[in-house]
Amino acid sequence: MVVEDSTLQVVVRVRPPTPRELDSQRRPVVQVVDERVLVFNPEEPDRGFPGLKWGSTHDGPKKKSKDLTFVFDRVFGEAASQQDVFQHTTHSILDSFLQGYNCSVFAYGATGAGKTHTMLGREEDPGIMYLTTVELYKRLEARQQEKHFEVLISYQEVYNEQIHDLLEPKGPLAIREDPDKGVVVQGLSFHQPASAEQLLEMLTRGNCNRTQHPTDANATSSRSHAIFQIFVKQQDRVPGLTQAIQVAKMSLIDLAGSERASSTHAKGERLREGANINRSLLALINVLNALADAKGRKTHVPYRDSKLTRLLKDSLGGNCRTVMIAAISPSSLAYEDTYNTLKYADRAKEI
Ligand code: ADP
Ligand code: MG
Repeated sequence: MVVEDSTLQVVVRVRPPTPRELDSQRRPVVQVVDERVLVFNPEEPDRGFPGLKWGSTHDGPKKKSKDLTFVFDRVFGEAASQQDVFQHTTHSILDSFLQGYNCSVFAYGATGAGKTHTMLGREEDPGIMYLTTVELYKRLEARQQEKHFEVLISYQEVYNEQIHDLLEPKGPLAIREDPDKGVVVQGLSFHQPASAEQLLEMLTRGNCNRTQHPTDANATSSRSHAIFQIFVKQQDRVPGLTQAIQVAKMSLIDLAGSERASSTHAKGERLREGANINRSLLALINVLNALADAKGRKTHVPYRDSKLTRLLKDSLGGNCRTVMIAAISPSSLAYEDTYNTLKYADRAKEI
């Protein structure tokens, strides 16, 4: 069965300026026009936004405005809540997920752009990983009369082209392709949180187990891809009949920073890590591009080029639903990163 309507949604989230960005007397380079349109480096940054002028008069020599208009499936401004973002991204693919389609949701963007905030969030303001799981439990409970369900979650990272379990840390894990089960990470732990609080605790604990190393560019920059997965197994409750079991997988991914390794002045060990991050990120981009080119034709899709793409082989393309959330800063301090992220997100729309 092939689904013909759009399988990839691309949305952009602009985070609020940080105190440092506000202090730095820089100007905003992103103007959210409406729910679908934003302008990068507008000629009149405060057009229609009289309050939004932070430091714009002290900006020194201005780069010539690009005044580029972008259209996405959705644009979230700095006032958007976690709930807003959830409602217009993952929420819209939950029906497909419950019908048995594998789904994946990525947060893409430079370090500091808001990826972890969007996917994980804070305990008092949890993000998409939490909101999706809670909504899923709610929906399954409502259908309990008709179906028998089992939900399992896992949380892992790809760091330096190695897979680590974030909930039960141990040595690196191997990937295997099983003819029945699809992609399997050997030894990965699966969990059934008994309550929303327990789920929150697991997410926070898993995030603390992510590998982080200080670099010149950003002391908390993360080079790991964090992958939270929800597996749902369902079977109709029909007395006296053996019903087929349906299994689907939702992957929610906080990608490593998309900034170029060169800009961090990385050397030695860090440089190798940087190269590997680019390997998984580049492989993901290549896979998405190949899927876009394929559009019905048989084309080679290079899933085998990295751990991340091998892991997601059964969750991208074909019958899968994908949401790309591009996270950006509003400040001219992140000018190049924002421009690169918008260009990439714009290209991804063609998938
Ligand atoms: P990334 O994971 O892309 O490196 P973070 O999610 O850690 O970036 O965000 C960088 C900083 O900005 C963090 O302090 C985070 O709490 C804050 N932040 C990001 N997005 C938002 C938002 N939408 N609202 C409020 N604060 C945010
Ligand atoms: Mg992060």
